[in-house]
Amino acid sequence: PQRLRLILGDQLNPRHSWYRQQDSSVIYLLAELRQETDYTRHHVQKVCAFFAAMAGFATALKKAGHRVLHLTLDDTADDADLPALLRRLCQDLEIQQLDYQRPDEYRLLQQLRALSIDGVTLVEADTEHFLLPFDDIAQQFKPGKHRKMEFFYRDMRRRFQVLMDGDQPRGGKWNFDADNRNRLSTEDIDALPQALCFSNKVDSILQRLQRHGVDTFGTASKELLWPVNRRQAEELLAFFCDALLPLFGRFQDAMTGNSPHAWSLYHSRLSFALNAKLLHPMQVIDAALRAFENHPEAIDIAQIEGFVRQILGWREYVRGVYWANMPDYQSRNALGATRALPRWFWDGNTRMRCQQQAIGQSLEFAYAHHIQRLMVTGNFCLLAGIDPDEVDQWYLGIYVDAIEWVELPNTRGMSQFADGGIVATKAYSASGNYLNKMSDYCGDCHYNVKQKTGERACPLNSLYWDFMLRHRAQFERNPRVGMVYRNWDRMSKDKREAVLDHAGGLLAKLDEL
Ligand code: FAD
Repeated sequence: PQRLRLILGDQLNPRHSWYRQQDSSVIYLLAELRQETDYTRHHVQKVCAFFAAMAGFATALKKAGHRVLHLTLDDTADDADLPALLRRLCQDLEIQQLDYQRPDEYRLLQQLRALSIDGVTLVEADTEHFLLPFDDIAQQFKPGKHRKMEFFYRDMRRRFQVLMDGDQPRGGKWNFDADNRNRLSTEDIDALPQALCFSNKVDSILQRLQRHGVDTFGTASKELLWPVNRRQAEELLAFFCDALLPLFGRFQDAMTGNSPHAWSLYHSRLSFALNAKLLHPMQVIDAALRAFENHPEAIDIAQIEGFVRQILGWREYVRGVYWANMPDYQSRNALGATRALPRWFWDGNTRMRCQQQAIGQSLEFAYAHHIQRLMVTGNFCLLAGIDPDEVDQWYLGIYVDAIEWVELPNTRGMSQFADGGIVATKAYSASGNYLNKMSDYCGDCHYNVKQKTGERACPLNSLYWDFMLRHRAQFERNPRVGMVYRNWDRMSKDKREAVLDHAGGLLAKLDEL
């Protein structure tokens, strides 16, 4: 009997139990598909990274003695979608059993669970990737309800015995976030490390995308810098532990426009390798913990705790939120935001230096770090009331690590508050002042961060107030936000009117900022 085993582009887990045994009756399938290049408009480096990683995975499986069918866009051009391809192959190859790993994306899970093929048994397997078992999600996360990330994270620390001394957190505290809010000084900027980049040849993929008229955006590079196989992913992990982890937490929220290394700072850039499942999250955590144990002189508890929290906490948490709340989550719009995304999100052509930097580097590298995504572009969209559907499409397309299960709760939830508080208890809104505190962007900006009104006033300032007042009824009840309204009420009536007037003018011409 012939068995076909489907491996999706984000299921490149080299440690999966499927591969423990060679079996000549099993054919592994990896397929480039138009449904995947087209479900949103992607950054070209993102498509290249997934296609190159799939090709590399196919080669590695073959080398390990497995039978592999690796299909490119050339081979699947006539298949309408994944189910059509699977039907065709099951017939051509006389398949009796089709195995697939449970997709992490709702769209694909629906598609595969709805599939039936005459004479073929379909069997669903786990991806053997996440730390929280899929079946535990429903206990931990209730649809429509806020679950505090901090408590989830503590449960995960206890459950996996990470950074624990018995039942107590290592270092006496669960969370060292307060130590992680430093700005970069001039000396810090001079000392920034150069990012480890790879030079993967992707000419043939680029040609294929062109041949098939796939619509992408962003800077195409024939030498892809992202890790596309297990060896490169492990090399990047080792580089992180060695060169970046010592200052990871300290500068986690910092931003600068004054260094060639500003785009990556001390961030790991492991998200693609993790999300494609080339790396297992516990493998990443273990490597970082080993570095911490071996180099106490270089890595303090705040750095390692900050990093562990991202992977053991946030990453598993957003996946839980996603599955507990789909499919309605994807259409939530709690703040009723309806404006169109400004055109400059697609070319970085704006005079707001913070936006220009974050968008510019996203177009160049398919990457921006968390605070840029949340507090630069995300904050702008939040304040300006951009339709969350448009915001989602942008984030889902532009980042090399963007897969819906992680993109959606971060964008619609954490950043846009469109889920009404399932992820965050308050909206992450900020005026220019925050950016001036955490970055050096404002110094060289066309706009003046100190002004609220006037032609050169930083647009974030009046947009901030406009946003806060649009949603006053909803936000004022939150004790953490009430202060803001008292400040507003203390301003003179004239000033308040001028600020809202100015904001109104900006909202009418967002494309021109
Ligand atoms: P580091 O700063 O080095 O962090 C280490 C790892 O922790 C990351 O690789 C990632 O796996 C994990 N992590 C950190 N923060 C988060 C988080 N909030 N949610 C989930 N995992 C986290 N992350 C994605 O992987 N894909 C996305 O599509 C995505 N979209 C985002 C959209 C918005 C609006 C925001 C605010 C955040 C988004 N994030 C997304 C989360 C986070 O910004 C990225 O994981 C991170 O920037 C990736 O870079 P890094 O690997 O250098 O991360």
